Amino acid sequence: MSVLEIKNLHVNVQTDQGVREILRGVDLVINEGEIHAVMGPNGSGKSTLAYTIAGHPKYKVIEGEILLDGENVLDMTVDERARAGLFLAMQYPVEIPGVTVTNFLRTAKTAIDGSAPSVRTWVKDVRQSMSNLRMDSNFAERNVNEGFSGGEKKRNEILQLELLKPRFAVLDETDSGLDVDALKVVSEGVNRAKTNTGLGILLITHYTRILRYIHPDFVHVFVGGRIAEQGGPELADRLEEEGYDRFLEPAAK
Ligand code: ADP
Ligand code: MG
Ligand code: MG
Repeated sequence: MSVLEIKNLHVNVQTDQGVREILRGVDLVINEGEIHAVMGPNGSGKSTLAYTIAGHPKYKVIEGEILLDGENVLDMTVDERARAGLFLAMQYPVEIPGVTVTNFLRTAKTAIDGSAPSVRTWVKDVRQSMSNLRMDSNFAERNVNEGFSGGEKKRNEILQLELLKPRFAVLDETDSGLDVDALKVVSEGVNRAKTNTGLGILLITHYTRILRYIHPDFVHVFVGGRIAEQGGPELADRLEEEGYDRFLEPAAK
């Protein structure tokens, strides 16, 4: 049974105005196969949490721990985190000029597994996953994220998720900018990964819409760099009706 533990996480970022504490004591435990939705207003630090788990150098952990099956994630390089089974789908995926989707996937798979996948099964797996995600086969020969529409970027992230088979995935606003059809395809991919590989998921979102397709086991309301309230799926229903207003400090309203 795999577990990702975030304990009393405090994170600083260097801004033009000086150092600012963005995360102010985050506690979160995600077991294998669980879906945790982290929901909160813009600027509450959700992406900061995602980047910190992924190991982005801009985000400095000043207190607290992140443990993957008891191993200290904060001691690991970005590559080591990926090999340990962590996956981040970013809110704003970057373009990789000159690198095709196929080559990127094979290189990543080889780096994560420590050896190249057998060609025959790999080609079959890639085709299957692309068909699952209703992606056109010529998509594989395009450069990563170059000129991709919002929907294509998100499908590409889920394609990576299906093929790289991480243990835990952080999905940062995977729903933003998707039309309903793309949202369904992407959500099915996430649900498949949970069912097939016991993926544990940290689903970061501002809106409740994606939760009609991906059903969280736990919902956390994230405000001002910490979890203000947690509950089950019913908490998301309340947020849909009431918004974040009652969680905001008076000064922030
Ligand atoms: P969310 O994803 O919830 O919208 P973010 O984590 O993106 O929130 O941002 C939280 C706060 O931290 C914001 O006030 C944002 O301006 C600030 N912040 C985040 N990353 C940086 C950065 N790299 N440089 C400066 N400020 C940042
Ligand atoms: Mg934001
Ligand atoms: Mg964000």
